[in-house]
Amino acid sequence: MRAQQPPMVARWRYASLVAGSLVFLRWSTLSCRMKLAAGERIATIIQRACWVGIMAHAAFIPLFAWLGYRELAVFNVASTAVWGAASILNARGHSTTSMWLIVAEVMAHGSMAVIFLGSGTGFEYYLIPLIPFVMFNERLSTRVIVISSFAIVANCMLLMAFGEGTTLAREILRPIQIINVGIPMLVLGLVSYNFRLVSISVERRLRSAAQTDVLTELPNRRRIAERLREEKARTERTKAVFSVVLADIDNFKRINDTYGHDIGDSVLVATARCLRKSLRDCDLVGRWGGEEFVMVLPETKLSDAGLAIERLRVAVAKGLSAVPGCDNPVTLTFGIAPFVDGASIDECLRSADDAMYRGKASGRNCVVLAAT
Ligand code: GH3
Ligand code: MG
Ligand code: MG
Repeated sequence: MRAQQPPMVARWRYASLVAGSLVFLRWSTLSCRMKLAAGERIATIIQRACWVGIMAHAAFIPLFAWLGYRELAVFNVASTAVWGAASILNARGHSTTSMWLIVAEVMAHGSMAVIFLGSGTGFEYYLIPLIPFVMFNERLSTRVIVISSFAIVANCMLLMAFGEGTTLAREILRPIQIINVGIPMLVLGLVSYNFRLVSISVERRLRSAAQTDVLTELPNRRRIAERLREEKARTERTKAVFSVVLADIDNFKRINDTYGHDIGDSVLVATARCLRKSLRDCDLVGRWGGEEFVMVLPETKLSDAGLAIERLRVAVAKGLSAVPGCDNPVTLTFGIAPFVDGASIDECLRSADDAMYRGKASGRNCVVLAAT
């Protein structure tokens, strides 16, 4: 230890510094949450890292002061301010500048602590989590990431190689060593955990986008095909029947020609909403393409499907009677086919399509069951 313990007044001053840092931390991270650009993964990780960064620096202020290293205590106050500035920059959308500020702070601070307290204290370990932290920034090129990672590794190795042996007393050195392994590992865990969260959420979003129709936000043809395969497998396992419905908006070309493509799109969106609203949660309704929709009704035999879809036809015609910008009544023609065990999905869809075309031929706005 370099100096005597500071008097009571000085300890209060350090304690208020810690409290002030924590208030600042709370404020800066709150402002982050309010203004962060959605989907910016480096911005999210910086926001979270700032919690640990400011907390760790604040905690070291009284420790260094107690050990008599005033320079390091003051440096920690400055560091807390730098982390706060990084947090604010991040919140203002300057995530990469914020990231470099944090990298520079950690490298300078780690080096400074090793120079003052000697090697063997473990302050060089704080540099290790910087590598995945930098990699997290999707805006940086591979070249920049490789160069900065090498610089971080070199800085860490130089500190270990050339740092003077520590003069700290053993009872002080041990807890510092333990803390200096714990905090970098905690940060490493935090960065890795965020990698995990981000990759899972990106995968989910991509999967959902690949299965969703952009205009109507209904499941698209890919998702419908997947659901049909799932239902077919279930039928083969449990012998439960299901029905498939094909629905097509009547004279949709005329709607487009009369009111324009945009109103045509609004009619498609309104139809999608009406169909979704009027079916059970377990039923699937998706956009097959153009002005055609497919519905999958699990555990529903043909006659029951016929009754349900007739109710749906009436409800949809009523629901679509007032689409803004379209004075024409909007109706649909439905064709229903049961899935027969042993048949193929294509055969079932063809059967529903035939039924639907019979409905078109017989005057539209009706429900037709496939011949069994
Ligand atoms: P029917 O009653 O026999 O089904 O006649 P229809 O006019 O509805 O059928 P047709 O196949 O002749 O026309 C379908 C129209 O749907 C033609 C196409 O331009 C339009 N369409 C397809 N996709 C979209 C879309 O995403 N938005 C809009 N606005 N129109 C679309
Ligand atoms: Mg059509
Ligand atoms: Mg049509």
